[in-house]
Amino acid sequence: MKSLFLTAPGCLELRDTPPPVPGAGELVVEIRAALTCGTDLKTWRRGHPKIPLPSPFGHEFAGTVAAVGQGVTTFRPGDEVMAVHSAPCGHCFYCRAGQENLCDQVMENKVLGAFAEQILLPAPIVERNLYPKPPQLSFEAAAFLEPLACVVYAAQVQPLRGGETVLILGGGPIGLLFLLLARARGAGRVIVAGRRAPRLQQAHRLGADLVIDVDRDDALAQVLAATDGRGADQVIECTGRPEAWEISPRLVRKGGRVLLYGGCPGGTTVCFDTGRLHYDEITLQGVFHFTPRAVAAARELLIEGIIDVEPLISGRFPLSGLESALLLLAQGEGLKYAILPGEER
Ligand SMILES: [Zn+2]
Ligand SMILES: [Zn+2]
Repeated sequence: MKSLFLTAPGCLELRDTPPPVPGAGELVVEIRAALTCGTDLKTWRRGHPKIPLPSPFGHEFAGTVAAVGQGVTTFRPGDEVMAVHSAPCGHCFYCRAGQENLCDQVMENKVLGAFAEQILLPAPIVERNLYPKPPQLSFEAAAFLEPLACVVYAAQVQPLRGGETVLILGGGPIGLLFLLLARARGAGRVIVAGRRAPRLQQAHRLGADLVIDVDRDDALAQVLAATDGRGADQVIECTGRPEAWEISPRLVRKGGRVLLYGGCPGGTTVCFDTGRLHYDEITLQGVFHFTPRAVAAARELLIEGIIDVEPLISGRFPLSGLESALLLLAQGEGLKYAILPGEER
């Protein structure tokens, strides 16, 4: 089968590899659609501390069951499925404490290789994070299960409340998924602060009441002006930039909540005004990854059409076109690209 490998930063290689054979409890999915993600772009540009190279690549996908291993009874070859690329172990300290997103094994157990004709899913994923895909949901939309699960998990930890003013920092795919979810949860007003006019226009089309171009406008002044000088009820940081983390508590009202979603480069630190956190009672909440419960909830949102992800797909490429898609993303063009391995044949 054809499989894209990242051999070094900036170097992709389309290899012919033997098709995977599922062991007991495992399952092979024939990829029908995979999606590019910000993590893929970062990894392609400069490598990733948790991904030794060469490595199979890509982690957002949906497809059809190609083969099942011994003991798998819930799925059969030909079934259309959607999944995420990791699952908690179920027995470590964190899993037992109900914090499965923090499972000691969750990063070790993840599978990469969605930019390929087939992917082998280990037993924990088959057991807990693999689902049937209903026919009305496209493979491309179903491949949003993983990024949407991250966003849904964050909103389970720090809920989006009806009627509130939500400020989203970052107009990329994750920021826009938060926008769609905030709209679905009845937010009073959603403000998106980001870069690049096309992305901000897209945020507008998807329901943002106000967009702020941080390269042109003073975000703090604009947010205060839009909220009678109070600040937003909730700020959701989706850029992973220390400057944005640092400014977040200044953008929120007294008693407000800050959700720190975007992961900053390792080793970075930020400073907060202790007076704001203490006297103004501001909540800062970090979030990481997702739980199986969030995956199930994200799937419902996709299936019921509550979150329509189609407008976030900027284009389609065959496997051999991944590099072109990543180059477009590197130039700030587009949000997410669908990679369709079937197009190659
Ligand atoms: Zn992703
Ligand atoms: Zn665990």
